[in-house]
This record gives sequence, C-alpha cells and structure tokens, in this order.
Amino acid sequence: MFIGHFAVAFAAKRAAPRTSLAVTFVAAQFADLLWPIFLLLGWEQVRIAPMGNPFLTLQFTRYPWSHSLEMNVLWAVVFGVVYFAVTRNANGAAIVPLVVMSHWVLDLVTHRPDLPLSPTGLSRAGLGLWNHPAATIIVECAMLAGGVAIYSRVTQSRDRQGRFGLWALVAFLLALYAASLVSPPPPSTTAIGWSALIGWPLTLWPWWVDRHRES
Ligand SMILES: [Zn+2]
Repeated sequence: MFIGHFAVAFAAKRAAPRTSLAVTFVAAQFADLLWPIFLLLGWEQVRIAPMGNPFLTLQFTRYPWSHSLEMNVLWAVVFGVVYFAVTRNANGAAIVPLVVMSHWVLDLVTHRPDLPLSPTGLSRAGLGLWNHPAATIIVECAMLAGGVAIYSRVTQSRDRQGRFGLWALVAFLLALYAASLVSPPPPSTTAIGWSALIGWPLTLWPWWVDRHRES
C-alpha cells in the first residue's frame, strides 16, 4: 500500500490532536522508511519483475527486519517509548504505536503472500489486493480522501500556508502515486533504495503544514 498509509497518518490527528502530522507520517510509513536503508545495506532484498500490473513490479523476496509482523510490533513499541521520552505526551504515545502497526495490517491487505510473520520464520502472509489494480486504486484513494477529510475537520488553518500547504501536499501525494503507476520499472534495486529514501525528507512537508494549522 502507498497513499493508504498517509490516510492513516492524517486520520490519526483526531485521536492524537497534539501530535504533529510529521510524527504520524513517519509512524504510518515506518516500515517503508526503514526498508530502503536495509535494502541499501544489503540486509533485505527485492527483485524487479515487470508483469503488466504496476503493483506487482517489485517482488519482495526478503524483508524480515522492516516488514515482519514481530519486528513491526517491536518498532511500534520503540516508537511509542521514544515519542513519550521526547514529548511526555501520553495520549500521543498511546496512539503512535497503533499507527506504526497499521502499516503491517494495510500491507497485509494489499501484498501477495510475502509478508513474514517473524524475522526468522518461513511463514508469509498477504491477501493480495494488488492483484486487482483498479480495486487497489479505488480503496487507496477513498482512504486518502477519508483521512484528509478527518484531518481538515479536526484542524483549522492559521493562515494561507496552512490551507494551501495542505492541499498542495495532498496533490503531491496523488501525483507521486500516479507516477509510481505509470513510470517504467526501476533500472536497479539500488535505484529503488535511493528513490525510496524520499520518504524521509518528505516528512518536512506535513511538519510545516501542521505548524500552520491548529487542532
Ligand atoms: Zn510497506
């Protein structure tokens, strides 16, 4: 899943009004933020196998550290503890681990059975929504619309940046999604790793938008 993760990040604002949208963005994508790092380090592997369906171009052959269920539970706990240690925001610290876990659950719905349950075991899970591209796009866009609707209802823009920055961010995410569907297969797995690192600097945008809005 791609923009569906951002939908959760936006919607989480309702449950954690004092938590920055940047934090929920990082939490919702956490497995996908670790993945390119682990890929470039050679700890995880992916194969490029173009087959007409853009959602299935990448075969996730090995990603036990970023994407196994057990590791995601661990990342969720670590995320919550670090968040609480830094902010002392108990409400936010209770919500952000759930946002981290939502990543695995949503990936479970979309991926083919390639998600490991534990980092060392052989069991793999995945319900395969990606086998149906039109359904995937409808589900993800509906989720993003719902998430943004919640965020824009529970926050109010302080100024023009808060208003237009939000809509520009949503437009940019949709453009990224569209580009990922129509662009040719990546030239190498190293190129995938480097381009997927965009998730990190992208976090500055929701941080900036959130500063120009109030809960
Ligand atoms: Zn993922």
